[in-house]
Amino acid sequence: MRRVFNFSAGPGALPLEVLEKAQQELICYGDSGMSVMEMSHRSKDYDAIIKEAEARLRKIMGIPDNYKVLFLQGGASLQFAMIPLNLLRKSFKADYIESGQFASKALKEAQKYGKINVVGSSKADNYTYIPKVSKEQFDPEADYAYICANNTIYGTKFHEYPDTGNVPLVADMSSCILSEEVDVSKFGIIYAGAQKNLGPAGVTLIIIREDLIGHANEKVPAMLNYKLMADNESMYNTPPTYGIYMLKLMFEWIENQGGVAALEKRNKEKAALLYDFLDQSKLFKGTAQKADRSMMNVTFVTGDADLDAKFVKEAAAEGLVSLKGHRSVGGMRASIYNAMPMEGVQKLVDFMKKFESENL
Ligand SMILES: *Cc1c(COP(=O)(O)O)cnc(C)c1O
Repeated sequence: MRRVFNFSAGPGALPLEVLEKAQQELICYGDSGMSVMEMSHRSKDYDAIIKEAEARLRKIMGIPDNYKVLFLQGGASLQFAMIPLNLLRKSFKADYIESGQFASKALKEAQKYGKINVVGSSKADNYTYIPKVSKEQFDPEADYAYICANNTIYGTKFHEYPDTGNVPLVADMSSCILSEEVDVSKFGIIYAGAQKNLGPAGVTLIIIREDLIGHANEKVPAMLNYKLMADNESMYNTPPTYGIYMLKLMFEWIENQGGVAALEKRNKEKAALLYDFLDQSKLFKGTAQKADRSMMNVTFVTGDADLDAKFVKEAAAEGLVSLKGHRSVGGMRASIYNAMPMEGVQKLVDFMKKFESENL
């Protein structure tokens, strides 16, 4: 067996320790006599799994008691609709910062349900930076304000979150959740599709302040109503049981790594290694503006599409895979989520140096 260094943006790499634990428990979980995949979601064993997943997450993320944790389906993309359907309730207005394609999709979905104000956009510059928005630009009457905290495709992130006053801030953290410490109390909702930095595809994690639950109009489908999901502790219907189990293993792994603070330190070191090389390279160039660079998705180009393709191909032969950039940026993207060890980034930088010396 040869495991590669997988730089995929999502579904992304998982820590080997987590996969091995899952493998150990695959056929028989504890003394249940069955796989987690075969277990009733109403069973005592499964109840312990989902409760433990939530408890561990609350601990590592420091989630305050007045927030609910939900494990839902439909990917991050379903939240693009679920958020306006549940949160638009008084003014039916919301402020969005358009910092990338996922933010843009979210705001288009929200426009179906209310008056959406785009308070900042970097679309004209192909989302190479995070639009700067001051407190005064936010509508104090808006039902919520929305950001995408880390722009997976463009390699940018909010290094400081906007101050929206009393308006609840909703953040898509699909590609950065648990990569660094965040103060959950600053947000109305934090959500994330699991397949970037949490686990396998199929689970969406939602952390929602309790006062934002229970305002959906009666026409909103049951499956899209946060209240029904919260009242039933994510078990209104069958939840993605195995995915939630994998999240539990991931949260356990994070604790064993020293928690989110330790991962943040390591992630900073990983990103710095790559960006420091890019900044002095004569061949490669980062595509995102320096001040807004992502710690999770590092985007870069040579400026020559053929050379980019050659790089991606030769890197793969060295066991450095899924480095092709998203088509809307081109070039390369190295996604260096929590599961990517320093060793993988070091190997990538070494290979980039070699490629540069051979192709300059
Ligand atoms: C991948 C991604 C999405 C879309 O996630 P799905 O689970 O495929 O719907 C949304 N937002 C961000 C920031 C992402 O990285």
